[in-house]
Amino acid sequence: MSIQIYLNGQYVSKEEASVSVFDHGFLYGDGIFEGIRSYGGNVFRLKEHIERLYDSAKSIMLDIPMSPEKFEEVICETIRKNNLTDSYIRVVVSRGKGDLGLCPTKCPKPTVIVIADSISIYPKELYEKGLRTITVPTRRNNPDALNPKIKSLNYLNNVLVKIEANQAGVSEAIMLNHQGYVAEGSADNIFVIRKGKIVTPPTYLGALEGITRQAIMDIANELGYPMVEEPFTRHDVYIADEVFLTGTAAEVIPVIEVDGRVIGSGEPGPITKKLLEEFRKITYTDGTKI
Ligand code: PMP
Repeated sequence: MSIQIYLNGQYVSKEEASVSVFDHGFLYGDGIFEGIRSYGGNVFRLKEHIERLYDSAKSIMLDIPMSPEKFEEVICETIRKNNLTDSYIRVVVSRGKGDLGLCPTKCPKPTVIVIADSISIYPKELYEKGLRTITVPTRRNNPDALNPKIKSLNYLNNVLVKIEANQAGVSEAIMLNHQGYVAEGSADNIFVIRKGKIVTPPTYLGALEGITRQAIMDIANELGYPMVEEPFTRHDVYIADEVFLTGTAAEVIPVIEVDGRVIGSGEPGPITKKLLEEFRKITYTDGTKI
């Protein structure tokens, strides 16, 4: 059976689920989105995803046409309708259908989409072996221009760095910000570990406030690992003992090479492995049951 997609208040099949070519999400990247996962019927940190969605909406002055509580229910219902327990959920709210001009006042009704499906961005073996990565020429959006804390539909910055990584023959890219500080991956936050201290860049440097990032910081604190948010440079990545990336789709994935420099022993490190193990546990309990 074809998957059932929530589209503006109705459930429609994948084949029927289409939006107008005049939708400003399509024409201008004018909208916001979320990527969420459910594990064994538990929607991991759903409330936090919903909060970020409404924060992004507020920042771009987009009125989501339902309450956050109702939105949570729509997400759970979409998962249930598709008989899923383990899923990847994509939520999109765009400015909606307008005319060809970019002015959003011509878009009376936002488009709301919830898709519950699956995703697998890296083969399983990479979680055991780790990723090869590079830093790329394209810099993270300057927060003064388009703040990366907004999970907007404008992902061209991220797409470009993914292309640059692909062209270099590696799986993932690390983006620097406009000042040369490490910002994040193409769709993941970054952590480095040196001498037992775990560091992730503060999001004001230009990074999304990742839900997985927060989960890892919570776990690190619970386990008593020193964990700080501090600016760092490429050099600090090169000399780290361990590096890993976090994201809803990627989960926690070790990095074993950056710009030709082998990280630590060239294998996923013990702290990364421990954090991944603890993260996997809480994905089944921390969140909202469908
Ligand atoms: N940074 C960017 C640019 C992202 O798109 C994402 C989401 N995939 C992340 C970081 C990680 O955020 P989260 O852990 O909330 O998925």
